[in-house]
This record gives sequence, structure tokens and C-alpha cells, in this order.
Amino acid sequence: CGIVGYIGTSNAMEILLKGLEKLEYRGYDSAGLALQTETGVHVVKEKGRIADLRNAVDSSIETKMGIGHTRWATHGVPDKKNSHPHQSASGRFTLVHNGVIENYVQLQRKYLSHVQMTSDTDTEVIVQLIEKFVLEGMNTEEAFRHTLTLLHGSYAIAMLDENERETIFVAKNKSPLLVGVGEDCNVVASDAMAMLQVTDQFIELHDEEVVIVTREAVEIKTLEGTTIERAPYTAMLDM
Ligand code: GLU
Repeated sequence: CGIVGYIGTSNAMEILLKGLEKLEYRGYDSAGLALQTETGVHVVKEKGRIADLRNAVDSSIETKMGIGHTRWATHGVPDKKNSHPHQSASGRFTLVHNGVIENYVQLQRKYLSHVQMTSDTDTEVIVQLIEKFVLEGMNTEEAFRHTLTLLHGSYAIAMLDENERETIFVAKNKSPLLVGVGEDCNVVASDAMAMLQVTDQFIELHDEEVVIVTREAVEIKTLEGTTIERAPYTAMLDM
């Protein structure tokens, strides 16, 4: 039901947890984080409250980059295994998703019959498809955009690639998602309120757009890969 992401110079874990707390009012049944660290992507997820996630996460982890999620289950019961983030079979790709993928059963049958799925969600097909296309030779951005062209339904997505530790891959279609531009960071949020703690400069995203977010830059593209220029606006909301 909510998504946050951060890449910058500060403690990402605390910013992401605070961001998820700001989204709690929207309702959710589970929550999770993926943190990019020196030793790889660290995933923690729990059924229940953000407070439970706070207790579960190892607060000594050092990270300047990560993504977070609150889930309102649509496919698969609310439990730890179905909570986001979801990872590809090799563990290389880690993804959070809000929305519903209507054709996930067809996609799974057509492309992923060889893959052992680890959840009952519609979401997991997205991350498994991206890995499949990368294994077949696409780079991550190409596989990300190609996978999105196959999806029917709604999505707000943020993804980490263990092999590209400077980038958050973002996409939106019929589910809310914004990118925020900070002084020494860039952020992602399903609602500006979650990231007003870091910046009030946000860029609106349109449906079927992807964003390549690094610490220094925000690059918006169509699913076909054409770059789009769009200036940020100043969000004026009470904290
Ligand atoms: N359809 C996904 C699931 O059930 C995402 C739900 C959401 O938007 O939180 O896991």
C-alpha cells in the first residue's frame, strides 16, 4: 500500500522506517525493507506493524541506500513469505510493488515454468521475469523496461540490483509514485508526505514511465527507453 526509497549520504534505514511510519495511516498488513550494504542486499520483512519491523531489523547495519514497503495483500495471505520485498531466484534482484498484476498466472506459465516461486503473490513474477531476461542477455534497465511492457494491471515499483549498487530502478502505472530530489540524495515515495523529512522537491511521474534514480541524478524514461525531461515542483504539505 506504500513505497519509500532513499539513496544518499545519510542513514537510509532510519529515513525509510520514518517514511513507512508516515504511510501507516493508509492501512497495511505487513512491511519490509531492503538495504544495500557492503556485503550485499539485506532484506527484513514482518507481518504486522512498522514497530515490529523496527524490532526485527539489525540497527547496526550501515546503509545509505534502500527501499521499503507496506503491503495491503491482494494475492496471497498476509504473512512473512508474501510480504515484500521479493527477490529473484539468484537473490540478485530485490523488488517492492504496490498494485495488482492481472496476468501474473499467464506470465508465470509462459515464461517461468522452470522457476521455483517462493510466494503466492502476483508481485513475484515481476522480479523473476527481470532476472530471466538478464540471464538471456539484457542489461538490467532493458530487462526492467521489457518486463513492464508484459504486465497488465497497476504498479508502483522500486527495485535494487545487487550488481548495480548505485541505482534504484523505479516504475509507475495507475498506482501513485513520486521521485524526490534532495541536496545530497534522491528519494522515492508513494506519497510526498513520507519523504518531506528529506526534501520538498518532487517530480510527478506519469503512467508507463520508468526512472533510473542514483544519488546524483533522476532519469525519467518511457518503457521504450526515450528520455523525458520534467522539472520538480515544491510540495506544500503540513508535516
Ligand atoms: N498485489 C501485491 C500483493 O498482494 C501488492 C499489494 C499492495 O499494493 O500492497 O502482494
